[in-house]
Amino acid sequence: MAAASTLTQELRKELAQTARQIVAPGKGILAADESTGTMGKRFANINVENTEENRRLYRQLLFTTDPSISNNISGVILFHETLYQKSDDGTPFVKLIQQKGIVPGIKVDKGVVPLSGFNCAECTTQGLDDLGTRCAQYYKDGARFAKWRCVLKISDVTPSDVAMRENANVLARYAIICQQNGLVPIVEPEVLSDGSHTLERAQEVTEQVLSHTYKALIDNRVFLEGTLLKPNMVTAGQSCPTKNTPQEVGCATVVALQRTVPPAMPGVTFLSGGQSEEGASVHLNAINAYPGKKPWALTFSYGRALQASVLKAWGGKKENVKAAQEELLNRAKVNGEAALGKYGGGATGAATEASLFVANHQY
Ligand code: 13P
Repeated sequence: MAAASTLTQELRKELAQTARQIVAPGKGILAADESTGTMGKRFANINVENTEENRRLYRQLLFTTDPSISNNISGVILFHETLYQKSDDGTPFVKLIQQKGIVPGIKVDKGVVPLSGFNCAECTTQGLDDLGTRCAQYYKDGARFAKWRCVLKISDVTPSDVAMRENANVLARYAIICQQNGLVPIVEPEVLSDGSHTLERAQEVTEQVLSHTYKALIDNRVFLEGTLLKPNMVTAGQSCPTKNTPQEVGCATVVALQRTVPPAMPGVTFLSGGQSEEGASVHLNAINAYPGKKPWALTFSYGRALQASVLKAWGGKKENVKAAQEELLNRAKVNGEAALGKYGGGATGAATEASLFVANHQY
């Protein structure tokens, strides 16, 4: 007989409560956990130098947006550096976020690395070694949830069984360690959209990846009610010649989830994965409008699709802060509507249909 879970009832209650709070109706997550290197790429597009002070100024802009942002944003994922930064008046960012009733979260993985021994460019994600100690500290410092991203790639021969098992297992180890320390783990197995594969192939792979993931989570005694899932939407590859309708994407995504994700898990918080801002909102809306069984909240945890027009409006200039904050409010509102299936498309503001795709995307 296998040993039972070591999570106490009290801990389970807290974890489930945090998870439910994050996926409250019409709310989602702002993924602002870009690593220093990724921020450099974002800043290069707007000619801003990648210094610690400029990163602080940009994140200050995000976290001092009007409190009404909390109508549509329930959680923010931070990078280690940001968790310990302060606003101009000395208020810790964590406090600014909490004051708005938003839950601070923390990216705890240490990055994607090659899966040694394979020549198919597959990968795994590192960071387990000192994870328990880091989670305990992050909880003390105000974080209540965490994120760990794994990446799977579609080609004729991938993802391999080894890659799917390895990534599912590392996600499960991460998840239980977070839970033991009071953090809700966001489980992120991202199937990249790089490639020319069809929607059907993306759905098949997503189902395989998610079924491996839930097998590993259950094997590792992860408390599903105290987790969230952050998957890709099911879309055809970036260079697939066939373009699908939002309804087709909505159907493929919901069916893949129905077949693999237990209803005990409270919420799916999709990544945007290089879709345009408008595309990510339209697809989220189609997912929620799909007329089938949907026993989980279906919402957003976007990085690029919440921030592209914010960065552009800011351009590193103090006088543009207000305008950039308006863009963030607008993006949050539109995606909040999409999370309820009430977004009609064609939002105003600077959001564009320009693709935000980055090949082999790092975070
Ligand atoms: P994108 O929405 O830019 O894909 O990123 C979300 C995220 O947190 C990826 O780990």
